[in-house]
Amino acid sequence: MELWYTEEQTKNIRFSMKIKEHLFSGKSKFQKVDIFDSYEFGKLMTLDGLVMVTEKDEFIYHDMIVHTPMAVNPNMKQVLVIGGGDGGTVRELLRYDKIQHIDMVEIDKMVCDVAKNYLPTLSCGLNNPKVALYYEDGIKFIKDKKNKYDLIIIDSTDPIGPGEGLFTYEFYSDCYMALTEDGILVNQNESAVYEDNRVETVRATKKLKEIFPIAKVYQANIPTYPSGHWLFGFASKKLHPLKDLQSKNWNNLNIKTKYYNTDLHIGSFALPNYIKEIISDGNV
Ligand code: SAM
Repeated sequence: MELWYTEEQTKNIRFSMKIKEHLFSGKSKFQKVDIFDSYEFGKLMTLDGLVMVTEKDEFIYHDMIVHTPMAVNPNMKQVLVIGGGDGGTVRELLRYDKIQHIDMVEIDKMVCDVAKNYLPTLSCGLNNPKVALYYEDGIKFIKDKKNKYDLIIIDSTDPIGPGEGLFTYEFYSDCYMALTEDGILVNQNESAVYEDNRVETVRATKKLKEIFPIAKVYQANIPTYPSGHWLFGFASKKLHPLKDLQSKNWNNLNIKTKYYNTDLHIGSFALPNYIKEIISDGNV
């Protein structure tokens, strides 16, 4: 008997993967957590039925959410990750010797525990001494932080359930206060292809543009996310993702990546016109 995992990406679009085995199913007080083993994408985690990470294509997302800001300021030392329970973002950050400390604030301990059990290639950095793991709501955690972080990465679920508050004007304003003068914020910024995602991209980008002097959107192809065309937000007080890109310094770090490179960095900010229009990004 064939086993398939199906994600309802919109009310009219479903995405299915043939599955070898359903390895784990649990329910925390925040969400349903499942682990499947698939033929095409290896092991994958879903939260409330939505794909979060797969062994095969997670490198794309984690390369782009970490190396893009790090190539603009390779000297960042204090980092905050909000969400990121699978550990992939922290794993990539730990490849930078200059990073002194990472606060990771994941609301759901079950996600980290399950990732440690089933996704060791992602969660391998969660026990690193540079990492302080807080099982708390990122919305509350950020409130009293001032001028503390060089980089804030919002590696969150979609703006539904516990993730909803990570896309608000108030939360982004708190992040602004928590960042240093050279600080950079990046977030997973949904997608412009399907209506439900597009609404969130427009909303989040509008708020970031109102709060940060520099707020840009960049893109990557992530096969297992709705439509495969996924967006990220880049916001900062001073540093521009292209004008301040330190290609030479980043390349001299010799960090080997499967997806990110500094040429692709530049290209990822060259958005299709239909996206530029909806985020009213006449210029990059
Ligand atoms: N890469 C995935 C994506 O783009 O959808 C996200 C990975 S990670 C699994 C997302 C994490 O955000 C989840 O583990 C979830 O529990 C966490 N999360 C959601 N809302 C949160 C909040 N308010 N504070 C902290 N973590 C939160």
